[in-house]
Amino acid sequence: TKKAVLGPLVGAVDQGTSSTRFLVFNSKTAELLSHHQVEIKQEFPREGWVEQDPKEILNSVYECVEKTCEKLGQLNIDISNIKAIGVSNQRETTVVWDKLTGEPLYNAVVWLDLRTQSTVEILSKRIPGNNNFVKSKTGLPLSTYFSAVKLRWILDNVKKVQKAVKENRALFGTIDSWLIWSLTGGVNGGVHCTDVTNASRTMLFNIHSLEWDKELCEFFGIPMQILPNVRSSSEIYGLMKISHSLKAGALEGVPISGCLGDQSAALVGQMCFQDGQAKNTYGTGCFLLCNTGRKCVFSEHGLLTTVAYKLGRDKPVFYALEGSVAIAGAVTRWLRDNLGIIKTSEEIEKLAKEVGTSYGCYFVPAFSGLYAPYWDPSARGIICGLTQFTNKCHIAFAALEAVCFQTREILDAMNRDCGIPLSHLQVDGGMTSNKILMQLQADILYIPVVKPSMPETTALGAAMAAGAAEGVGVWSLEPEDLSAVTMERFEPQINAEESEIRYSTWKKAVMKSMGWVT
Ligand code: ADP
Repeated sequence: TKKAVLGPLVGAVDQGTSSTRFLVFNSKTAELLSHHQVEIKQEFPREGWVEQDPKEILNSVYECVEKTCEKLGQLNIDISNIKAIGVSNQRETTVVWDKLTGEPLYNAVVWLDLRTQSTVEILSKRIPGNNNFVKSKTGLPLSTYFSAVKLRWILDNVKKVQKAVKENRALFGTIDSWLIWSLTGGVNGGVHCTDVTNASRTMLFNIHSLEWDKELCEFFGIPMQILPNVRSSSEIYGLMKISHSLKAGALEGVPISGCLGDQSAALVGQMCFQDGQAKNTYGTGCFLLCNTGRKCVFSEHGLLTTVAYKLGRDKPVFYALEGSVAIAGAVTRWLRDNLGIIKTSEEIEKLAKEVGTSYGCYFVPAFSGLYAPYWDPSARGIICGLTQFTNKCHIAFAALEAVCFQTREILDAMNRDCGIPLSHLQVDGGMTSNKILMQLQADILYIPVVKPSMPETTALGAAMAAGAAEGVGVWSLEPEDLSAVTMERFEPQINAEESEIRYSTWKKAVMKSMGWVT
């Protein structure tokens, strides 16, 4: 059979908290040609702990690459057209592995994990000088959320890691580093690197000098020799070298040339390149990022300052203000896996639609404490306002409403910090296929919500960075290269007054969830 002729193609690994995907785009139109997705396990070995198996994560990438290549073959598309590969990933999640055996030395400690709560309390009492020591260098509050404390915990508690550090065999990385090291050969010359966006989530990285910070490493007790090299988000890091499987091996020699933490990747994928442009991604958690251009803006309202992207070795760095919500899509998964009131994530929409209201029920899913704007690790989830009338449909509705209210709190903070209120909200992520959620969000924010027809914005951003890299040069990052992407709009339908009443009751519920663990 004859193979279809196409422009250069770019692949992207999107390794999220809930699942792994590999996607292949046409670099001339951003058309998604083929993809494959595998859900990955989350382990909860103790209350508040969240772990994943780094090997399972890596194997899920191989599986996705292999299946996507197969599907491309069925479409008569020649995989030798794939000119570059980008990586985007769940951020902060911490892996330590042995560079001689390639084996992880402990499970990945996931960003949501709360085991470091006491470490954070102890460290916050020891902050040298003023309280701004960590925040002024990293843009982040001292929190369980970021990698430095997770790595500290691993160094303190895992004997195998202590031994490997002593013997100079240990490597640390966030998921991007673990994947790029493995995909570029692993024990056979794998490249140990990360990009500025992922580095900016470790709490060890100075976002002004764009280097690992010696004082921070000393403060957290992190040996600097285990840290990856920090590179830009768009440059050739290394070439694919997989002996693992035949099909994945078909991409042998293709450069890996894009790397962005998932939220930065979505910002790029939504083309938010201008000062003041923002996007909100609804995945496991929910993350609103607003591009602040070349300057670091420090929030007065509980938002983080983070590296947005640096698209090339010699290109300038861009920063973002970020509002992070720990639990968004995870609440759907909880209703599915823990309560069993739905069988698939999509079913939540059916339940919510049946009632069209929460009937006074409010659900604050503070499973991992509350992130922005409260930063309260001692908060825990509550469902309140229950009556004998309340049923599972109302709870499903309240769960969706919670995601929208949390976004409203972030947007309010963002508008206060930036001065210019957003006129509409650009959205993406797995949850945005839920139309009830999108309409509710427009109603609660009272501004239009705008969603691209192609929801895989995170992967698209990674592919764009990879395709634009020096030495690859198949993607120009101009809007015409996204001609295959159209937009869907959700206009606010309820009046502002009604929306305000619901929102203020939500805030009352939040107050009840705070300070729960003492
Ligand atoms: P991540 O990038 O964090 O892995 P995704 O963007 O893939 O997350 O989104 C998956 C999350 O969204 C899961 O937590 C899932 O439960 C939730 N989700 C997926 N589809 C829906 C839906 N139709 N309604 C509500 N939640 C959904």
